[in-house]
Formats: sequence, C-alpha cells, structure tokens
Amino acid sequence: DLHPVRRALISVSDKTGLIALAQALTARGVELLSTGGSAKTLREAGLEVRDVAEVTGFPEMMDGRVKTLHPKVHGGLLALRDNPEHKSAMEAHQIGAIDLLVVNLYPFEETVTKGADYDTCIENIDIGGPAMIRAAAKNHRFVNVVVDVEDYDALLAELDANDGQTSYGFRQRLAQTAYARTGAYDAAVSTWMAAAIGDEAPRRRVVAGTLAQTLRYGENPHQKAAFYLDGTKRPGVATAQQLQGKELSYNNINDTDAAFELVSEFLPNDGPACAIIKHANPCGVARGATLTEAYGRAFDCDRTSAFGGIIALNQVLDAATAEEISQIFTEVVIAPGADQAARDIFAKKKNLRLLITPGMANPADAALTFRQVSGGFLVQDKDNGHIDLPDLKVVTKRAPTDKELADLLFAWTVAKHVKSNAIVYVKDGATVGVGAGQMSRVDSCRIAARKSVDMAEALGLTAPLTQGSVVASDAFFPFADGLLTAAEAGATAVIQPGGSMRDDEVIKAADEAGLAMVLTGMRHFRH
Ligand code: 5GP
Repeated sequence: DLHPVRRALISVSDKTGLIALAQALTARGVELLSTGGSAKTLREAGLEVRDVAEVTGFPEMMDGRVKTLHPKVHGGLLALRDNPEHKSAMEAHQIGAIDLLVVNLYPFEETVTKGADYDTCIENIDIGGPAMIRAAAKNHRFVNVVVDVEDYDALLAELDANDGQTSYGFRQRLAQTAYARTGAYDAAVSTWMAAAIGDEAPRRRVVAGTLAQTLRYGENPHQKAAFYLDGTKRPGVATAQQLQGKELSYNNINDTDAAFELVSEFLPNDGPACAIIKHANPCGVARGATLTEAYGRAFDCDRTSAFGGIIALNQVLDAATAEEISQIFTEVVIAPGADQAARDIFAKKKNLRLLITPGMANPADAALTFRQVSGGFLVQDKDNGHIDLPDLKVVTKRAPTDKELADLLFAWTVAKHVKSNAIVYVKDGATVGVGAGQMSRVDSCRIAARKSVDMAEALGLTAPLTQGSVVASDAFFPFADGLLTAAEAGATAVIQPGGSMRDDEVIKAADEAGLAMVLTGMRHFRH
C-alpha cells in the first residue's frame, strides 16, 4: 500500500512554510503544479513550478473564483490508478495523475472575526480549494492531501521513512483531517450566515472544533475526554498560556473558564477584582483597593471551600498577591498577566498552574452555548445580559442607599455566574455568602446564611458576615420565605428580577422587614 509521490499540486492562501516544503519536495524529485499567488511565491524563491492554468488550458478567471475547477485537475486527483477504464480516460484526455495536494483555504474564519462586511465574507468562501480537498481525500487510496501547515513536517518525514512513498494508513489520517477541515469550513460559513440573516434557529446547524488537547480523563477517571477550540480566539482558558504546573484536567478547564468569565465582568479600570471557583460555582468574589485585598476578601467568604480552588484575577498578578495565594493549595490561577516577582514566587509551587490570558474577555460579546441532551443538543445565546443603575426599579417604601446600590449590582453580577437557584449576599464589594444549585430558593438563602455564620465563627467574629449585607436572587422569589430568611440573616436590601404571581406579597414582606428592594426585570438562570 505504499505509493510514490511524483506530482504535487500546491494552492495555499497561508504561505507559511510554503517555500521550505516546496524545496524539500523538489529535492525529492517531485514535480510542482501551482495556482497564481502560490506559483509566484515559489518562482520568486527560485523554484521550478508549472501553472495550473497551463495544465488546464484555461486562465484563472472571475477574480479567482474559477482556477482549478477543471477535469485536468479533478481527473488527476480522482482517477483510480489501477482501474483500466480510468487509465484509458487519463490517456485519452491527457490527464496527469496528482499524488499530493497541498491546500489551505481562503481565510474565511479570520475574515469574519475581523468584522468584514457581507460581500467581503462571501468573496472569502473558497470553492475550488474544498472541491480539490474532498476529491483528493476520497481518493486517499492513492492521493495524499495536506490541509494544515502543521502537517508539512510529518509529510516529509513519511516520505523519508518510505523512500519517497507514503503508506495507506498515513493517507487515511490525512484524509480524515481533510474532511474535518472542509466540514469545519462549511460550518463556519453556515454559522456566519445564520447570524448575518438573523436566523436564530436555522433548520440545520453544524458545530466544529480543532483539537487543543487530549485530556487524561473527563469529569471522572472512567470517562475519556478532549478539549477542542472553536476558532474564535476569545481571551480565556482556551487562549491562555500556561506558565507552569501539570496539564489542566477536564474539571480544571471547566472551572477556570467559569472563574475567568466571572472576573471579566469587573473591568480592570474599575479596580482589582478576584473570583475563586469550586465545582463551577464561586465560593468568594471581591473587589479591593489592591489585588491582594481583593483576593483576601474573596478568600474570607468561604475559606474552607477556597482550598484547592481556582482563582481568576482581572489585573496583572503582583508579588504581594502571589505571596498571599501561596499560603494555601490552589489548583489554577488565571490572570491577564503576572510580573516577574510573582512568577518567581509561584515557581516554588510546582503543583500550581499559572495561566496568562491575552487580555480580559468581553462580557458583552455575543456567542452561542451548547448543551447535549439525549438525541440532540440545545443551542442558545450566551447570557451576556447586563443590568445598570437606570434599569433598576425600586418597589419598596425605602429606596436603597448608594452604598447598597453598588453592592446590589455587584451581587447581581455574581449571581449571574452561580448555578440556580442562586442566592448571593454581598457586603462592601465582597461576597459574604453564596447559596448555589439548590432545588428550592429558600434552601439557597439558608445555606448561604449558614455558611456565613460558620465563617464568622472561624474568623472569630460574633455577628454573621451577612449582618448588614445585601442579597441577590437570580430569579424571582416565589414566596416571601426566602426573602425573610435573608432579612433574618441581616440583609438590608434585595435585588431580584420580579415577575412572580406573588410579587405584591413579597414586596409587602420586604416593607414590613424594613428592606429596600429593586427589580431588574431580567433573570439569570444558569444550570
Ligand atoms: P493562490 O494564492 O495560489 O493564487 O490561491 C490559493 C488559494 O486559492 C487557495 O486558498 C485555494 O484553496 C484557492 N483555490 C484554488 N482553486 C480555486 C478555485 O477554482 N476557486 C476558488 N474560489 N478558489 C480556489
């Protein structure tokens, strides 16, 4: 099943590594065919190359829309070399066999990411490239197809290992990659089109990804897992550079994402903020005058849970904060930077992973989220809902003070990132109690308050941390009981969407308890 490579067709938009590859192929006696821009690059490098236009007898035309779409090309890619009928067709029509196709496509995805207009995006849909890739991949019994610059070296190594030939297994793997590439390409086009024409529920949808990392296991050791990139290059766990520590696990990646998405809600210009995550829920989130203070206050919300947690920061990590973080075991720290002194401190903590992102995520970015269910998957917009002061409606006799308002918005922002039913108590820009993932809202209120009592005891305080706090609820209070639990815990103000059948009853209870309450009109369920 070894076949020699005698003729190659090269047609690439990304010219990275092109000359070196072509030189290596020429050195191995491979004849080169190429399209306009690629051929020009090769000639300028002094390489001998034949134009596809010369082979087809047709010029490249219509702005390059038609270059390689010709039987001389597709026949050369698709002909079965051991089929007498195919062989005589090749002879009759003077079609030369093409043994190697090297193509990378018009940069459609990058064009969309750059925010290009509709017509520019359309013009960047490659037609001839995918057609050739699919033809060559179908005929992998004889033909090699390379679609990634990263595979050039592997191709040359294979040729060297087999005296200028490639094995069937090698060609099969190339073909598999090739179909994933054309599949992802069309997925990108159709996803872009759905957005461009405003169709939220297109009848057909494809999701594609590129392998970033095979994982040791999934959520549990008996589950296989891998991490794929969607090509958006959004700042976060997918684009972060890991400076130290062992490989991230499935759960680490999930939690690190939750931590970074949460802390990205707090713009760096508004001051330092820190989020600590355990099992995808925050166990402490705080602002501070310094990053160290923000971390310390986040830590003080729930020191027990913070052990082995994942920490996200919205500022460059400094030495003082690194020193504080080093006091206990932490799995991952993710930040938009780390100064040298901080790196030196962490270097002593071999088990700690430090991830540096290329900036903060934009919480307003539009994106889709996917959730698998048996027999299908659910698609929805990412929850990028945002509430500001003017959106709030005061419904109680007492209006919140400015200090309460600031804390209410902070609590609301954190609650958006807590699994439902979510209850978040906040005081002075720091969470002091988080109730997550309970089936009843009143339980979330109680658990958060209970933890705050425990934490106060651990810190040697007499009053629970929730004394004088404000509270956020991710969805409306269906009854007054949850609200009253919060009042008993010492909360003085409440933020919630409103919209319950019993809103009147809940507002009355708030007034009787002397609470100030604002409604957002927006819900933040998260499951
Ligand atoms: P070059 O820079 O060599 O002129 O063009 C290379 C690009 O053209 C590659 O991305 C390749 O996929 C694409 N391409 C090759 N043949 C065709 C064709 O017939 N139609 C279109 N639209 N693109 C082609």
